Amino acid sequence: LLPAGWARDVRVSIAGDGQIAQVQCGVDAIGARHALGIPGLANAHSHAFQRAMAGLAEHSPAGAADSFWGWRETMYRFVERLEPRHVEAIATLAYTQMLESGFTRVAEFHYLHHDPRGRRYADAGEMCAALIAAAHASGIGLTLLPVHYQFADFGALAPLPAQRRFVTDPDAYAALRERAAALAEACPGALVGSALHSLRAIAPAGMRQVLDGAGAGPVHIHVAEQTREVDACLAWSGARPVQWLLDNAPVDARWCLVHATHMDEAECRALARSGAVAGLCPITEANLGDGVFPAVAYAAEGGRLAVGTDSNVHISAAQELALLEYGQRLTLRRRNCLGGASGSPARGLLALALCGGAQACGIAGGRIEAGARADLVALDAAHPSLCAQQQDGWLDGWIFAAGDAAVSAVWVGGQQVVHGGRHPRAVRARERYRDCLRSLQA
Ligand SMILES: [Zn+2]
Repeated sequence: LLPAGWARDVRVSIAGDGQIAQVQCGVDAIGARHALGIPGLANAHSHAFQRAMAGLAEHSPAGAADSFWGWRETMYRFVERLEPRHVEAIATLAYTQMLESGFTRVAEFHYLHHDPRGRRYADAGEMCAALIAAAHASGIGLTLLPVHYQFADFGALAPLPAQRRFVTDPDAYAALRERAAALAEACPGALVGSALHSLRAIAPAGMRQVLDGAGAGPVHIHVAEQTREVDACLAWSGARPVQWLLDNAPVDARWCLVHATHMDEAECRALARSGAVAGLCPITEANLGDGVFPAVAYAAEGGRLAVGTDSNVHISAAQELALLEYGQRLTLRRRNCLGGASGSPARGLLALALCGGAQACGIAGGRIEAGARADLVALDAAHPSLCAQQQDGWLDGWIFAAGDAAVSAVWVGGQQVVHGGRHPRAVRARERYRDCLRSLQA
C-alpha cells in the first residue's frame, strides 16, 4: 500500500539507519517475500503500567454509579506498589502485544516518576529507564513523553497523597526531560517529547515554562475526556477546555490533544484548523464511559487524528480502528462514516491514523516511501477473512473481521520483530509478567 495506492511486485530497500532507501514497483523479488505490505501504525497514547490492571478494574463497589473517577481510585491504589522492575516487565509485555497487533511505535505518556513514598529516585530518570529497556527488549519504536503533573485540580489545588509519585514542579520537570533524552540515546530510533498531564494538573505559568523548553518535539496533553472536566474548566476560566487551550497555548502541528471528546462545534472546527492531532483511544474511552468523539464532523473540517491504546485494557490496532468507526455508526445511525472518498471505511480510517499517528509521535513515517522510517506490517493474504478480498477489501478483512490474527510479520526501523504472527520474546515476556503480578499481589 503506497502513498498513491495499491501496487504490485513492490521492492522496499532499507538503509542501515532504519529508513526506507528506495521503493520500486513491477520488479522481481529478491530477499524476503510477503504478499500484502502496509505501513506500520503508531500508537499515539499509552500508559504501559496500566496493562497490569486490565480486567482487574471492572468490578466496582460503586456499582451502577461507577465512572472514570472510580476507575482512577482503583488505579491510584494499584500504582502504590509498582517498582521500576514491575514497570519494565509490564511494559515489555504490553509492547510485544502492540507489535503483534500491528503497532510499530508507541507514544508513552509517562507520569509515574517517583518512588512509592513520592521521593525522587537517586536517578530521576529511573522509571524512564525501565520503559526504555522495555522498548529496547521488544523492538518497538518509542516516543517517550515525560509528563508534567503538579496539581490536583483547576486553581492549582495541592496534589492528593495518591498523586505523590507523579508530581513535579516545572524546574524538576525540565531536568527529568533532559535525563530522559540522555537515556533514550541508548535505544535506536527512540525520541523524547513533552507532555502536560491535563489542564486540571497544571497551572498556566508552569505550562508556559514546559512549552518554552519543548523545542520542535511533540507536545501531548489529556483534554476534555470527561464532562466533569468541562464543567470545572468553565467554572475556573469561563472557557471550555479545548477552547481554553487554543486561546492560551501555541497549539499547532507539534501537539496531540488526547481524547478531546467533549467539544462544541466551534471547538471542533478550531481544533481541526490548528493542525494538531486528536489522539483518540476508542477502546479505553468506551471502557471508561467517556463519550464519543465527533470524528465525522472533525474529519469533514480536515482534522487530523490518531489512535492510542491508553489504559491498554485491550491491545489491538484493528479493534481501535473498528471501534472508532462503530462509535460514529452508533451515534449517526449510518454506515461507512470515516471512509471518505475511497468508499472503504478501513482504507479511510487507516489513512487518517497512519498520518496522524506519525505526526503525533514526531516521526517521518506512516507511509511506504523513500525517506520514511521502515516501519512495516505484512498481512496474511490466506487468512479466511482476507483470502477472497482485493486491495481495500484486505484492510476491511483485517480491521472489521480478522483483527490481530491477520498480522503475519512486523518490522520496526527495518528490523523484523514479529514472525508468523508471533513476537519471539512473547513467551518469556508473559512469564515475567505473571511473576510480576504474583509479587504485586503477595
Ligand atoms: Zn491517558
